[in-house]
Amino acid sequence: MKSISIHWRNKDIYYGIVVTECLKCGRKSVFKWSRCPYCGSRELRVLKSKGLGVVRDYTISYYRGTEDLESYPRIIALVELDEGVKLIGELVDVDVNEVKEGMRVEAVLRRVGSDDPNGIIYYALKFIPTLRG
Ligand SMILES: [Zn+2]
Repeated sequence: MKSISIHWRNKDIYYGIVVTECLKCGRKSVFKWSRCPYCGSRELRVLKSKGLGVVRDYTISYYRGTEDLESYPRIIALVELDEGVKLIGELVDVDVNEVKEGMRVEAVLRRVGSDDPNGIIYYALKFIPTLRG
């Protein structure tokens, strides 16, 4: 099935964090690029992030459950990875009152849904407080 093979081919993009480092200007950016988004150079080095970083900022948004009318908090964090790039992601497994700037986090895969007729399970990257240092 076409959608499965595309998904499989892109699995490193979906399920890992890739960082491109420009060997000309030295800047780094999230995702794999064929040209540096800053200076246009093709002299690039692609590395896989260890997925560890620090919360630099965050916001709490509320969403409504599908089966009740309760509102649930969702923490959206700006995370600076140890490789020196920033990205935005959901922070889970932490109480909204315990989130703080500077806390160490790591990227994890979490199940976000399932395509029942085909039995495909989808995952997404999220961040959790890390025990890895
Ligand atoms: Zn560059």
